[in-house]
Amino acid sequence: MTNEFSGVLQPGATIGVLGGGQLGRMLAVAAARLGFHTMIYDPGRNCPAAQVANRHIATPWDDNEALDDFANACDVVTYEFENVPAETTERIAVAVPVCPGTKALAVAQDRLMEKSFVRGLGIATAPFGQVDDEASLRAALADPMTANGAILKTRRLGYDGKGQLRLKAGDDAVAAWAEMAGAPCILEGFVDFELEISVVAARGRNGSFRAFDPAHNIHRDGILRTSIVPAPVSADIAEEAKRIARMIMDGLDYCGVMGVECFVTRDDEVLVNEIAPRVHNSGHWTEAACLISQFEQHIRAIAGLPLGDPARHSDCVMENLIGDDVDRVPTLLEDGNCLVHLYGKAETRPGRKMGHVTWLAPPGRQAG
Ligand code: AMP
Repeated sequence: MTNEFSGVLQPGATIGVLGGGQLGRMLAVAAARLGFHTMIYDPGRNCPAAQVANRHIATPWDDNEALDDFANACDVVTYEFENVPAETTERIAVAVPVCPGTKALAVAQDRLMEKSFVRGLGIATAPFGQVDDEASLRAALADPMTANGAILKTRRLGYDGKGQLRLKAGDDAVAAWAEMAGAPCILEGFVDFELEISVVAARGRNGSFRAFDPAHNIHRDGILRTSIVPAPVSADIAEEAKRIARMIMDGLDYCGVMGVECFVTRDDEVLVNEIAPRVHNSGHWTEAACLISQFEQHIRAIAGLPLGDPARHSDCVMENLIGDDVDRVPTLLEDGNCLVHLYGKAETRPGRKMGHVTWLAPPGRQAG
């Protein structure tokens, strides 16, 4: 196991981050505030995290010599995206603890393993079936679970709605299967949910657990647009979502922050859609509306420090600045009631997350 080291990192220790995107950038800033150094491993030159870190190793993922140098230079290693190759974390874990460990990564990388694991804990998900070929797709499409339609998803490497196909019972399995280009898939029954929420929570090395309040997430074109906190759900549902997050994290003997994305049905049932073994876009609001952000919470967890208080001092609305949205920054800066956070990306592209903005309001008053 990789999370079994018991020491507490001292200021001046080095935290390695696999991946150099905006999440790695925000982790590096949080680590610096606690006196740690950060080293980023990412093949991309001038990636967002490298701009604010102490060191950047810009070599390919399969450069074993560079991975070993990186591992040997770090006191703990974490990752900021879940598609880090398992061989990479396994190799690094020989030299230095990797938090969260390889198990969480393996489960989150494969939708079939993920949903099966969550179900195995007695937690509800959308109905699903394994699809490995045309025949299994045809059989799954004939299953009553597709009564409201279905979504065919690749088991691996899907994000922001990519690698997904909306289908309905009776659709042509041959054409649909051809579109997935032979990638192993799952077919999920379509859930007519009331709203989507997520819980961002932290688990310390000693099993301590702290959860931020659930956010209500609104997506457009498969990309998270807006997170609103508090989510418009009852206290019971909010607690249930946190309880579910804890069960999943305990089940993985997890260390660090995790995002758990859920559907809330019209019957007030909470179904888990996806887990992200890392800090999460729907938790960015915590940097503005909580004393301890998700980024600091993650650094605390992997450094063996006590977890901070996740209480929210304000209600808030977080909006992603996607593509040209970033042109609104001068106007947003004029607004004294919002926190603007930019990721240092030189090139604006459609669909690219360039930054985010969080508006605050006193509890009970509408933000934004
Ligand atoms: P995912 O990549 O699994 O997070 O899916 C992206 C988005 O597609 C989700 O945030 C939902 O809005 C929608 N979605 C995914 N799976 C389902 C489902 N089984 N039923 C209804 N909507 C879904």
